[in-house]
Amino acid sequence: MKQRILLIVLFIVTVTLSAQSNKNTNPHQEIINQTDEIYEDLVNIRRDLHMHPEISKQEKRTSKVVADYLKGLGLEVKINIGGNGVVGILKGGKKGKKIAWRADMDAIKTNVPDLVDFKSKNEGVRHICGHDVHTTIGLGIANILSKQKENIKGTVYFIFQPAEETYTGAKDMINDGLFDIIKPDEIYGLHIGPEKVGTINFKANELFAYQRSLEVKFKPSANENELENFMNTILKGYERNPLKGSPLDIINSISDPKKGVASKETIFKDYFFVEGTKLSKVKDTMFFNASFFETNAQNTREIPIKIKKQILNSKFKDSFISIGYTRAFATPINDPELTRIAKQTADNFYDKDMFNPLHGQIPYFGEDFIFYQQKVPGVFFFLGASNIEKGINSMPHSPNFVVDEKAIKYGVQCFASLIFERANSI
Ligand SMILES: [Zn+2]
Repeated sequence: MKQRILLIVLFIVTVTLSAQSNKNTNPHQEIINQTDEIYEDLVNIRRDLHMHPEISKQEKRTSKVVADYLKGLGLEVKINIGGNGVVGILKGGKKGKKIAWRADMDAIKTNVPDLVDFKSKNEGVRHICGHDVHTTIGLGIANILSKQKENIKGTVYFIFQPAEETYTGAKDMINDGLFDIIKPDEIYGLHIGPEKVGTINFKANELFAYQRSLEVKFKPSANENELENFMNTILKGYERNPLKGSPLDIINSISDPKKGVASKETIFKDYFFVEGTKLSKVKDTMFFNASFFETNAQNTREIPIKIKKQILNSKFKDSFISIGYTRAFATPINDPELTRIAKQTADNFYDKDMFNPLHGQIPYFGEDFIFYQQKVPGVFFFLGASNIEKGINSMPHSPNFVVDEKAIKYGVQCFASLIFERANSI
């Protein structure tokens, strides 16, 4: 009898301990289930944001929706940072890392008709870049992690950024003291990509090509035709593996299974190509303008110096005034070690086919997430949202841009798990 009681006691102790350890060591199943529970609410939030798009620097309503939602979750909330920027702070109780998640909120001026039923109520403005989805995913992660608050050791910061489309929002938030308010050890974020829904796509280092607008000024003494030919020949000399076709052809090739960035054999690797060269005369100055795409950072820095040398060694040396970049599009540069850890973390809790590597560098796009990465190491991901069987193509800025909303669920689950693990790492 005594022994039996001891066995029963042992059984109860074992069951209690294992239940506790399950709760403590496997919160990811809870994250998955809790996301399923709020998924419909998130879709409604996304559709509301989609119907009320606001262009860069005018995200008043969106930022209020965000701030109210975060306050409702019990987070500490700061508003009006760098314009309409909002920050939510979720503090875990123990020693752990401080992890930031960034979502952008702004929409775009366009009259291209939307294909969905929940169309924009703001005429001429549309979420054609998916930032309504990004905002919703940020709120979803905040909701799920606030439910996990007791299990989170470190601190999680949610950055809701205005004015990404104008490349000003990240800088404005930083210049307005963002990193005085929050002190993240790592930062993460995502953008909708044209990949298949259910996938998250990643790459260490640069995601995009360096796009630069070059301007060379000359005195009007030079022969115009000769000068234009000379400059075109110089630029041609830098060309390697140029991407052929119109910009639209090139963009369509990004998601091609063989040529695109999902393939190791991608054509989007190690290239330089020029677009839109033009010689013009304004008053007493001649301007030679060109845009180029270059995958190598060092080449990007050296090209104006080299071109200047070539001009100074030519018959145009006396006409030369100056050379410089007038515009630069930013690429995120992902921390290789954090990229590796993110992949490993996702593989531990999610389907191994979900996280897919990308190759090469994409032209024509930019992202001001780099301005955070210049201060804090981080990773920027692409969240697949296309569904070819349903005719859904989620290439941002394309006229028929539509998102498979299941992407919201995958984004919230996977990145709530990643942030949870990073905030609990020492
Ligand atoms: Zn965008």
